[in-house]
Amino acid sequence: MKKTIPVIKNEEYTVKINDLTYEGMGVAKIDNFPIFIENTLPDEEAVIKVIKVKSTYAFGKVMQYLVKSPNRVEEVDRVYTQTGIAPLQHLAYDAQLAFKKHQVEIDFQKLGIETEVLDTIGMDDPTHYRNKAQVPVRMVNGKLETGFYRKHSHDVVPIEDFYIQDEEIDKAILAVRDVLRKFQVTPYDERVHKGTIRNVMVRRGRNSHEMMIVLITRTNKLPNKEFIVNDILKQLPNVDSIIQNVNSEKTNALMGHKNIVLHGKPTIKDTLLGLEFEISATSFYQVNPEQTEKLYSLAVQKADLKPDDVVIDAYCGIGTISLTLAQHVKQVYGVEVVEEAIENAKLNAQLNHIENVEFVANKAEDQMAKWQADGLKPDVIVVDPPRKGLDASLIESVSQMAPKRVVYVSCNPATLARDVQRFMELGYSIKDPIQPVDQFPQTVHIESVTVLEKD
Ligand code: SAH
Repeated sequence: MKKTIPVIKNEEYTVKINDLTYEGMGVAKIDNFPIFIENTLPDEEAVIKVIKVKSTYAFGKVMQYLVKSPNRVEEVDRVYTQTGIAPLQHLAYDAQLAFKKHQVEIDFQKLGIETEVLDTIGMDDPTHYRNKAQVPVRMVNGKLETGFYRKHSHDVVPIEDFYIQDEEIDKAILAVRDVLRKFQVTPYDERVHKGTIRNVMVRRGRNSHEMMIVLITRTNKLPNKEFIVNDILKQLPNVDSIIQNVNSEKTNALMGHKNIVLHGKPTIKDTLLGLEFEISATSFYQVNPEQTEKLYSLAVQKADLKPDDVVIDAYCGIGTISLTLAQHVKQVYGVEVVEEAIENAKLNAQLNHIENVEFVANKAEDQMAKWQADGLKPDVIVVDPPRKGLDASLIESVSQMAPKRVVYVSCNPATLARDVQRFMELGYSIKDPIQPVDQFPQTVHIESVTVLEKD
């Protein structure tokens, strides 16, 4: 039987918000039919207009607030929610931390897994924390602009102050933008796949203050290349590395595979927990260094390491977790799919005079199967996968190697819960309460550490 839809497009309704989605939208229900409303918070009441109706849900926008939440704070700038830079800016920071804890709880509850989640570890100053920016360069009203995509669209909204980035990075983006304007570099036009400059990426070491600028171009040719580099250096004399990355594909992937060093070094250095790391343009590096130190310390502590332990660090990136672990154990094996990251990892081991690590460039799921077949018996396995979580086959291999403990660093509680369920089917259970760590203040992203042990 077809259910009737209780709302009509363009009609106004008075509603009470009772939930916040994992994307940070308020949810109201009319006859149990959910309506998603931007910029609303639980317990708020508002007059809304329904703007889009689907078969099982609708979207609404606020016409008038009737009751506001005590957790609402003044928006810093509407553009941050419009573009998704800081979709939770209107929620008080304490409430953001509570929201994240609750999201982890919900994701486990959905699968019927009972578990305890600790309070999210937050930041003292949850702004200007990002050590990396990647911004699209587009023509907006006849002018080359840098900014961010409007939500659910590929239109660029110009932005100068990104609020959550290191302010030196914001300045660098503006300097690069002005140089690109001066030399009339044509911005990428996605519809026709034409134009030269697609994106600018800037990374800055929080401790080292070393800075890398990456110009991501569609074409190999970057007209006036030397002048552009000289001019960027005139504006930003302390830049340590300028790279051209060529991405000629019609794709949403940010970077291509070809890196050309236009100035300085191919990597920049930063330090975390007293270790030094070289980072190349295409390697992953955690974006919130202050919280990363808390996250890694926690992972090491939860791994409960013994001097004779053998440890695997899967999805190891440039070896940050591996090298942190290596100081406490006999041997660490790291695996990561991006070859440049593994080159960095090997160099980083040398740089820090750490010899008890071995890094392999491979898919974690394939390498784990290989290690298992080779008879490797790790005591502890640390995994830190991307948002899609772990491959079921990797969980199988881990279970066959029967480590004492698995430390799961997750950036997506939904896939974490799914994977934990798989581990539980293989006889593992959650040991300590799950600990969320806020790596991404003002946004809806949730990082956490979970420990699993064989029963
Ligand atoms: N532990 C590292 C990196 C975590 S991010 C750190 O804290 O810095 C996740 C990493 O997994 C990225 O470096 C990404 O390149 C890598 N990755 C993605 N898919 C992979 C796969 N199938 N196998 C191995 N590594 C993968």
